[in-house]
Amino acid sequence: MNNLDKNININFRKVRKHKFTVKEYVAGILSQNITILSRAITLIESNLSSDQEIAGEIIEGCLPYSGNSCRIGITGVPGVGKSTFIETFGTYLAKLGRKLAVLAIDPSSQQSKGSILGDKTRMELLSANKNVYIRPSPTSGTLGGVARTTRETIILCEAAGFDTIFIETVGVGQSETAVSSLVDFFMLLMLSGAGDELQGIKRGIMELADAIIITKADADNIIKAKIAKQQYKQALHLFPPKKNGYIPKVMTASAIENIGISEIWDTILDFFKTVQENNYFVTNRKEQIIHWLHETIIEKLKSDFYKDSERMKEIKSLEKKAVEGQISPFRAANKIINCKL
Ligand code: GDP
Repeated sequence: MNNLDKNININFRKVRKHKFTVKEYVAGILSQNITILSRAITLIESNLSSDQEIAGEIIEGCLPYSGNSCRIGITGVPGVGKSTFIETFGTYLAKLGRKLAVLAIDPSSQQSKGSILGDKTRMELLSANKNVYIRPSPTSGTLGGVARTTRETIILCEAAGFDTIFIETVGVGQSETAVSSLVDFFMLLMLSGAGDELQGIKRGIMELADAIIITKADADNIIKAKIAKQQYKQALHLFPPKKNGYIPKVMTASAIENIGISEIWDTILDFFKTVQENNYFVTNRKEQIIHWLHETIIEKLKSDFYKDSERMKEIKSLEKKAVEGQISPFRAANKIINCKL
C-alpha cells in the first residue's frame, strides 16, 4: 500500500453504518481510526467464513506496518491486582507518550459467556485516555481460537500506531503458555504473604516469567512483600537459565500508591535492550510465527474433521464399542481417521 492508499477518503461520520472495502479498512486502521480498528477486530472474531475472508485480507494489508511494538504479557490469579496495575502502569506509559492497546485472553469467559478481562469498566481512568485502546476479550471460542484472534488483533493494533501492547490473562494455568507465545516479555503478578507463596501458580508458569511483580506492596504489606521478593528470587535461581539470555527480575510494586511503577518500565526497557542485542528478539518472533502457523493448521484440521455429521455418527458408534471393550481406543481412532466418507 502506498501513501495514496493510506490517505483514502473516508467519510468518518458514516463510519458506523458504512460497509467498507478491504482497502478502506486498511486505510482507516493506518490513519488510526479507532472505530474502524474495532470493526476490523470484530471481523477477526467472527465465525462467519465471509467475515474471516475479509479479515484475512485486512490483516495482510496491515502486516507490512506491524511488528513495531513491545508486546507484554501480564498474568496473575484473580484478585492479585491485574486491572489496578494495568490502570496505573498504563496511565504512566501514556504520560510518557506511548500508545497502549490492552487485549485479553480469558479462558473463563467460555463458561461465563461474559468477559472478565480487559473489561472497560475495570479500568475506567485508562479507558478514557486518548492514548489507550482497551479491547475486551471475545466471549466465545476455544483457547487456541482466542489466542489466534488475539495474535491477529495485535497486528492490526500495531498498524494503527500502538507501540505497546498488553495481553492480560487470568493465571489459572491454561492460557499462560498461549500468551507467552504471543508476547516478547512475560510478567507474572504475585501476592505476598498468606503463607502460600506459590499460590497455585505452577512451576511451569514461573519458568515463563521474565519478571515477577509482588503486588500491593504498601502500608502493612511492605515487609511481607519484601520477604516474598527474597523467596521468589531464590525460587527463580533453581530454574534453568532462560533461552533469551535474560535473568528474570523480582520486584515489588503498589499500583494504588504508585510505587515501583517506573522501575518496572525501566526493567522492561532493559530487557528489550538485552534481547535486541543478543538477537533473541528477532529469533523469538520468527519462532512464534511458525508456532502459530502450525497451531492454526491443527485447529483448522480439528474443527473441519469434527464438522462432518456422517463421521460424527461413526465416532459415536466407535466410542460405544471402545467403552464396552470391543475395540481399543487406538484402533477406533485409526478406523475413524482412515474411514472414507
Ligand atoms: P484482578 O482481579 O487481578 O484484576 O485484581 P484487581 O485489580 O481487581 O484488584 C483486586 C483488589 O486488590 C481490589 O480491591 C484492589 O483495590 C486491590 N488492590 C489492587 N492493587 C492494589 C495495591 O497496589 N495496593 C493495595 N493495597 N490494594 C490493591
